[in-house]
Amino acid sequence: MYLKKILRLRHTLSFRLTLWFTGIFAVSSIAAFLAFYVLAASVINRHTDQQLLNEISEYSSLFSLKGIETLKTALVLEAESEGVDKTFFRIVNWDGEELFSSNMSYWCNLDIDRTVLDQLRNGVSHVFETLTIPERPHKMRILYGVITGTDKILQMGESLEGNEHLIKVFRKIFGATMAVLIALGALVGWSMARRAMSGVEKVTQTAMDISKGAFKHRVSVKDSGDEINRLATTFNVMLDRIDILVSGMREMTDSIAHDLRSPITRIRGIAEMTLITGKSMDEYKDMATNTIEECDYLLEMVNTMLDISEAEAGAGKLKIEKSDMSGIVRDACGLFRPAAEEKGLNLISRISDNSFVQGDIQMLQRMMANLLDNALKYTPSGGTVTASVNTYKKWVVISINDTGIGISGDDLPHIFERFYRCDQSRAQAGIGLGLSLAMAIAKAHGGNITARSYTGKGSEFTITLPQMPLSN
Ligand code: ADP
Repeated sequence: MYLKKILRLRHTLSFRLTLWFTGIFAVSSIAAFLAFYVLAASVINRHTDQQLLNEISEYSSLFSLKGIETLKTALVLEAESEGVDKTFFRIVNWDGEELFSSNMSYWCNLDIDRTVLDQLRNGVSHVFETLTIPERPHKMRILYGVITGTDKILQMGESLEGNEHLIKVFRKIFGATMAVLIALGALVGWSMARRAMSGVEKVTQTAMDISKGAFKHRVSVKDSGDEINRLATTFNVMLDRIDILVSGMREMTDSIAHDLRSPITRIRGIAEMTLITGKSMDEYKDMATNTIEECDYLLEMVNTMLDISEAEAGAGKLKIEKSDMSGIVRDACGLFRPAAEEKGLNLISRISDNSFVQGDIQMLQRMMANLLDNALKYTPSGGTVTASVNTYKKWVVISINDTGIGISGDDLPHIFERFYRCDQSRAQAGIGLGLSLAMAIAKAHGGNITARSYTGKGSEFTITLPQMPLSN
């Protein structure tokens, strides 16, 4: 179980981020340590060399002041006080023959390097060498130098034990510090990666909750304004939008089911009644007529739904051409005038010319017909319906005004929803799709429809469509 969790952890972004962070931190720390180590080692060794040089110049002065015997005594004393396993002195001539030396037993009677003597003979003031004596654990630093004013060479050796010890301690301390630092770096990296990824995990968790059915879950958002926060906010906005769409679709399906049920129930009722009670041919004819009417209603509903979908699918489905809105509104008024007169309504048109739009003429005619039909339908006899067309800035503005029953403030925000019908208009025939279709057509043409209304006083529907430039 735990092993599985750990194995899964390997694939997480947090783990990979931590690995990168720790890796980069470790490599740069080790590089810094190495640079420091090399520098420290060279400083320590240079210090030893300087000490040897100082000593050789001191012994040269001693020789010139007090002579060779005093120098020999001083060298022996110095070697014994420092320890014969730590240092030695040897005086040789140009041929490399030993003239004098401190106790050399520990140094395995080290040979004289002839090449160094040649270098000194050629005028080099002093020569350093670092030697490893196989039987001894530590390296040694050797200095050859000519004793000023003589033909004698002083060879001095110093064990590097102290330096090696110092560097070893230094390496240990750095190694330990490094290990602690890298572990700490990994911890800090892990906690930083976890913090950065916690927002993503919240989004993932919310998505999982939603996939299990908790549709109302949202990611909790802090006001930090970072990328993860923006992702969470966008995710929430997307969920809200999907929620609205899903609720809209659910409502629509409910409405369709509800609206289909009534005519189907009616058709079934008529058929059943005729079967039970009907005897004459006339009764069967009545049944057929009623059935056709109900089927027409159903067909109109389905066709209008398809038209709305087509309009909502966008401009790609429209047959776009230069359309004269003045002409379309004038023709629509002409078509509806007989019906208006029959109902005792006054249909007025105030149409200014040259109102062209780019659009699908049939769709635009359909939109106008729906709005005029509503105005006539919901205005009682004796009322007035006015249709006007004007241009304003870059827009063609069409307005349908009536003195009809009006729409209440509660209903007004919903009248463009599919299947929405206000209570006071239920007496009139209708399927509640006319305004949805008109709005879908206006939107498909880059326009809009707004409505103003007062109950009992009348309504005004205003369509705005982008005007086609005259040069076209
Ligand atoms: P319907 O087929 O019911 O007319 P619509 O989508 O065309 O469907 O209109 C939706 C509802 O808006 C109507 O049922 C009606 O209640 C209201 N409505 C639309 N136009 C008018 C108007 N001119 N006057 C009053 N109410 C209207």
